[in-house]
Amino acid sequence: MTPQSEDFSAWYNELVIKAQLVDRGPVRGTMVIRPYGYRIWELLQADLDRRIKEAGHDNACFPMFIPESYLRREAEHVEGFSPELAVVTVAGGKELEEPLVVRPTSETVIGEYMAKWIGSHRDLPLLLNQWANVVRWEMRPRMFLRTTEFLWQEGHTAHIDEADAMRETMWALDAYAAVARDLAAMPVVPGEKTPGERFAGAVRTYTIEGMMRDGRALQAGTSHYLGTNFAKAFEIQYQDEAGKLTLAHTTSWGMSTRMIGGVIMTHGDDTGLVLPPRLAPYQVVIVPIGRKEQGEATAAEARRLGAAIKSMGIRVHVDDNRPQLSPGFKFNDWEMRGVPIRLEIGPRDLENGVATLVRRLPTVEGQGKEAVPLERVPEIMPQILADFQAFLLARAETFRGDHTRAVEVWDDFGAQVAEGWALAFHCGRAECEDDIKADTAATPRCIPAEGPAEQGVCVKCGQPSAYGKRVIFGKAY
Ligand code: AMP
Repeated sequence: MTPQSEDFSAWYNELVIKAQLVDRGPVRGTMVIRPYGYRIWELLQADLDRRIKEAGHDNACFPMFIPESYLRREAEHVEGFSPELAVVTVAGGKELEEPLVVRPTSETVIGEYMAKWIGSHRDLPLLLNQWANVVRWEMRPRMFLRTTEFLWQEGHTAHIDEADAMRETMWALDAYAAVARDLAAMPVVPGEKTPGERFAGAVRTYTIEGMMRDGRALQAGTSHYLGTNFAKAFEIQYQDEAGKLTLAHTTSWGMSTRMIGGVIMTHGDDTGLVLPPRLAPYQVVIVPIGRKEQGEATAAEARRLGAAIKSMGIRVHVDDNRPQLSPGFKFNDWEMRGVPIRLEIGPRDLENGVATLVRRLPTVEGQGKEAVPLERVPEIMPQILADFQAFLLARAETFRGDHTRAVEVWDDFGAQVAEGWALAFHCGRAECEDDIKADTAATPRCIPAEGPAEQGVCVKCGQPSAYGKRVIFGKAY
């Protein structure tokens, strides 16, 4: 595998295939998500789905074909999405009267039905979510990060007024930040997008941004306050208490399979994947060692131990059916595939009544292999996994801190965004954003929610700053 330091992109592209997360799809920009990769998605999905339901949303499923005319009803929306649309013009052997768009996102079709289902203020808020695949014809596809077809959830909600819709928008952003931190061990920055980076048709777009190990940013989830834009286009309105017909305020929010790419690039190293335990298909792998009778004895103990660990609710795999491969090969293989904890049981371990425990990365300096009494392994494992999870989050936070700097003058800007994020004042003008992008390939990632209030002058053009705080700039995926 190409080392990260030599070519981070090549490292990533090679690893996703080698670790059996994905295979290339037959159509450019598509991917086949293999079981090992799909399991990561399922684990993330289960947690996010629980949060969504607990907050009162209901899952539904809308059609993937959307009449083209729906998209045209919201001018900015259609303008933003047109270049990325896949359109069906022939079906059943006949030219269709109206072309059908394969959903790139579902504000339009869901808006149409919200209008139908909402009558009075008592029908609000309407809190919907769907788990679906969507299609955006991406020019620069990359596995997980930007594929032409991807999996996601899209929340769509309608509210009585701006205040309620904004509460919802921020709820979704918080949920995404929690999933990123707690599951993916990605310390993301929540914040608002600048106008130039807004979702097509949104009044305000919020994002969580993570820093990858090459210093680039990844937009890992977005939440949009749509104002009454879609309500106007689709006549989503309700009778208020006085009986007056009033436009609803809507939101939408999405998190996708891109998150898996975020996990890979936040934690991975030259050896391969490093998976946070909460998203690891296998949290523990047990490798029995030895030939013939000795091998049978260690394999039997490995299976017994595996069952005991499994009964603790831990995802464990016993690597006992590949006798043609050497233990060393298996160790390397599971390291490359990012398994957090490996247990080795050799004939001597068995004699001593221990298993050899190896972490994918040392959580304290100098930590190496550890002999653990067999009977203690299951009971200590939850804490070992929790510590490893916490270690990854802390390590990623340190990395981000080390690669983020305040930049005051334009001369220092290029060097900083070459290695990480620059915190800088900006005038808020779209042309100025474009100039920055043209010169350095960096874009405003977000106006961080928690950034201190500060005033200054634009790092590029010297005009007064527009946001009352510094903006995070970085190169992005
Ligand atoms: P959006 O509807 O554009 O706000 O996108 C919602 C989320 O989906 C974004 O925050 C991205 O993380 C993700 N996303 C957007 N486009 C893609 C893509 N082509 N492949 C994977 N994820 C995507």
